[in-house]
Amino acid sequence: MRTIYGAAGAMLLLLIGLSIVGFASAAPAPAPTAKVDVNTLPPIVSAAKPAPVSFNAEKAVNAYLGTVKGEARARSDAYFEGGYALLLVDAIYAVAIAALLLWLRISARMRDVAQSVTRSRFWQAPIYVILFLIVTTVAGFPLAVYEGFIREHAYGLSNMSFMQWLGDFAKGFGVQLLFGTIVLTLIYAAVRASGRRWWMWGWLIAMIFGVIGAVIVPVFIAPLFNNYYPLREGPVKAEILSLARSNGIPVTNVYEFNASRQSKRISANVSGFLGTTRISMTDNLLNRTTPRETYAVLGHEMGHYVLSHNAIGLTWFGLVLFVAFAFVNWGYRRLTEVFGGNWDVRAIDDPAGLPVAMALVSVFFLVATPVTNTITRTLEAQADIFGLNTARQPDGFATVTLKLSEYRKLDPSPLEEFVFYDHPSGRSRITMAMRWKAEHLNDPDIKAGPVSPQ
Ligand SMILES: [Zn+2]
Repeated sequence: MRTIYGAAGAMLLLLIGLSIVGFASAAPAPAPTAKVDVNTLPPIVSAAKPAPVSFNAEKAVNAYLGTVKGEARARSDAYFEGGYALLLVDAIYAVAIAALLLWLRISARMRDVAQSVTRSRFWQAPIYVILFLIVTTVAGFPLAVYEGFIREHAYGLSNMSFMQWLGDFAKGFGVQLLFGTIVLTLIYAAVRASGRRWWMWGWLIAMIFGVIGAVIVPVFIAPLFNNYYPLREGPVKAEILSLARSNGIPVTNVYEFNASRQSKRISANVSGFLGTTRISMTDNLLNRTTPRETYAVLGHEMGHYVLSHNAIGLTWFGLVLFVAFAFVNWGYRRLTEVFGGNWDVRAIDDPAGLPVAMALVSVFFLVATPVTNTITRTLEAQADIFGLNTARQPDGFATVTLKLSEYRKLDPSPLEEFVFYDHPSGRSRITMAMRWKAEHLNDPDIKAGPVSPQ
């Protein structure tokens, strides 16, 4: 760290030095003697502005929101609000599993097994971690079935048979087992090597793997679950690629994938990092939306790409994770001081204490929900306004937002949105779109576009 600060300090001094030299040489410049002609620029808005079309943004927002009503609105609200309770249920469930592993001394026994297999403390860690991940996944399986399969079917969002779902679950578990074991083994090695400052080194290792994960997910992990292929030919593709080129996005980075294998959800995403950043849209998006809606969504995704949201998001989450590691360090000491004897769990370098750390992580991220949601929701709102400016489809954006209400409540209270929303709500998004439209009513493309309900 010292060398980084040293280098940064040297750069700062160099910059200050250069700017002083710059000011010194600029000071004695001669006064201008040549006559300068000054022409006034024509106003941006022509004086012969036509009378504005009758359009009331607020009325349009309410009219759009009013189109999702009755059964559809009730189901959307129930699905999303159920998610609030599940946040709490997930955390309680995780803490309960950890408590059972500790008080029944299952965790201590798993550590003893690892110690009986090898005397190497390095290799004891992965043996314990593999046992831990298997036991916790089995224990969490009923909740995973409910949340991932039963509930999704109950709301008509899933396209999967149980065997298909189980196949994806098994693949996900395989990926988790591989990377979880590697990361936790290295963190335990760092814990033994660094003593009291283990949590800073643990955080650093987690961040490095966060970056590696972000780079390899679109190339090696995502294709395990779906087929990715270039966009199919046609006028929509031509328009999307033009939009991409105009925003400086390498055209090969626009993909389609068969998300309909898993669900009916309309979505698209920007994944990857450094060299592997790419925009992918679901087949559901292309099949269930109009071209205007598709451009609106793609404009949003291009915003994520152009504004480097993956790097910015990783930075923000790095800060949150730093606090999380500090919290685990603090909480682990307190809890093992009191209960360590009952659990047969020793200091942080004892793998048998992993359930304590995992329970603390669950509690931390439950409490941090408004913070992590506000980070993503803020970036999403930036992508929204970028998308409106580049795709210029305020009504397409509004109608596709209504379609997203299948899985996101449209009209929450501001506090509810602050706490629970990782994307802006339907009301916020349609308000943004109609406000944008109100300021662009006289643009030829907007004039010729769809008429908003009033
Ligand atoms: Zn987004």
